[in-house]
Amino acid sequence: MAISVSKMQASFNVIEKVIFGGTFDPVHNGHLISAQELARKMAYQSVTLMPCGQAYHKTGSSTAQHRLNMLNLAVAQSTVLDVDEQEVLRDGATYTVDTLRHLRQELGEHAHITWVMGTDSAQSIVHWHQWRQIFTLANVIVIARSGESELDLSHWPAKLVNEVETFKQSPHGCYCQLALTPISLSSSEVRKAIKNHQPVDNHVPQAVIEYIEQHGLYRGLD
Ligand code: ATP
Repeated sequence: MAISVSKMQASFNVIEKVIFGGTFDPVHNGHLISAQELARKMAYQSVTLMPCGQAYHKTGSSTAQHRLNMLNLAVAQSTVLDVDEQEVLRDGATYTVDTLRHLRQELGEHAHITWVMGTDSAQSIVHWHQWRQIFTLANVIVIARSGESELDLSHWPAKLVNEVETFKQSPHGCYCQLALTPISLSSSEVRKAIKNHQPVDNHVPQAVIEYIEQHGLYRGLD
């Protein structure tokens, strides 16, 4: 499907595309608040949440369609966050490198494309399919979660750039680490709370809670 360009920013005539990938099973306030804070700190006009296709590395997960529906509900009122469905719609295994190739082809060689990941992903990226190619297609921002310190990423085939405007002018090949306000919350905790019939009102948007209840997710009903 065509990528939405409605929230892309043209700053210094450079198209920006910032993608926060994840399983989002389900999306929670930690994802949403962090993505918004990232946009604010980096002065990005928008951040795109991209749910992975098959959550093949996680067991007992919801279908991609449910995860996508919940994300769409979560960002419905947002002027900063949007959702890209391309990994969900693609058949078979979804690799970040393929997604980035697609985006690069669509947005052109000068576009600033940045993939956002947590420190957990940054530590395991060397095991991703064609991981070195990622840096020929995009920049990477590593966001630190609660209690996490900066990683030594000097083995990455990318340049460390800490100055925001310089970073934002790079089409690909740069990385930086960004500390965000710690929000101690995970999808696993949300799933566990729902399974145990505990309230999750402070952790998940109301529209998502209603969707979960309507479809009986995370209670062993689906
Ligand atoms: P699970 O508990 O099932 O492992 P999760 O809460 O880590 O899920 P994911 O969908 O796997 O959620 O994460 C997507 C991205 O969001 C990852 O880069 C992850 O590091 C980041 N992330 C998850 N929770 C938070 C949080 N509370 N604050 C900031 N970033 C988060």
